[in-house]
Amino acid sequence: MRVTLTVIKADIGSIGGHIKPGERLKSKVRDFIEEQGRKLVRDYFMSSTGDDIAILLTHDRGQGDSDIHKLAWDAFKAGTALAKEMGLYGAGQDMLKDAFSGNVRGLGPAVAELEFDERPNEPFLFFAADKTDPGAYNLPLYLGFLDPMYCSGLMLSPKMSKGFRFDIMDVAYTQGDRVVSLNAPEDTYDIAALLRDNERFVVERIHSRSSGENAVSVSTTRLHNIAGKYTGKDDPVMLVRVQGEFPATGEVLAPFAKGHHVAGFMRGSHVGPLMPVKQNESISFFDGPPVVSCAAFCVHEGKLTESADAFDHPFWDYVRDDVSRKAIDIRSQGFSGPAMLPFSELEYGGVVEKLKDIDKRFKVRA
Ligand code: MG
Repeated sequence: MRVTLTVIKADIGSIGGHIKPGERLKSKVRDFIEEQGRKLVRDYFMSSTGDDIAILLTHDRGQGDSDIHKLAWDAFKAGTALAKEMGLYGAGQDMLKDAFSGNVRGLGPAVAELEFDERPNEPFLFFAADKTDPGAYNLPLYLGFLDPMYCSGLMLSPKMSKGFRFDIMDVAYTQGDRVVSLNAPEDTYDIAALLRDNERFVVERIHSRSSGENAVSVSTTRLHNIAGKYTGKDDPVMLVRVQGEFPATGEVLAPFAKGHHVAGFMRGSHVGPLMPVKQNESISFFDGPPVVSCAAFCVHEGKLTESADAFDHPFWDYVRDDVSRKAIDIRSQGFSGPAMLPFSELEYGGVVEKLKDIDKRFKVRA
């Protein structure tokens, strides 16, 4: 059957600062989907990563369906009401508009969607990251879909020999979605030239060039998409189809062992290593480090298997230790140099105002 996977995530309030949303809040959102989504969706799954709650829905209504988006929006609204009642920190913080208008894009929550005809077996991965932005997926996607050093299927599988098409968005462009489609392998150096800048050029989708099928969807949006205002960086979700004409699950996961440095961390203003964590993990050290979780599924006739927690394995304990060391390392230099984002990237306005004040005190020597 033709199935659509829709994942919508939001931070609607958390306990003790930015740590985690808590069980009561998650139950509220889950109960809402269970009661109101019954006729609309084939299946659903819910988890949290850091302070964000993500709702994964399977259905046959296609991408950008307003009823599906409204279901998630209303569930987060119901959750926000409880978060306010409980006095949770940042209650409703990602619900940037009061009224729903057809689609959650531009209203605050992040969304990623894939639509396809189910293969006889259809494995896919659902990633959710906190304390970082969609550019955090640039490097793992480059390595997992383009580099035979990580994706041996590019050499070994005839189904993958034609490579993949990368759709990359210029998220700094304000007037609309400015996107370029580049083909691997022949455009590899051009893809690298763009993806090196995680804050400007971000992978939105990847397609197989053998079948034309959509493999990857990231919740990439331009940075000024809400009423033309800069809305900061968003904790990104991503859906990835695997196996067959796509990379194997392990080829997609392998680059995450790097714990590469990404933007985000404390106040969304720093640089820190991306730690692969188990589902429903909280954040802690310096409101971080940036984390990513991965739930693996098969979907059949729109029904999800139980989730397999891809980063819940002894191997990733070793990686987490390594990433912790990297996090302490970069934190040891505080605000200095590459430990903190440049002024152009700082999403909290305070330092920009401060600079204006100091600016008046400068004198140019004769
Ligand atoms: Mg968050």
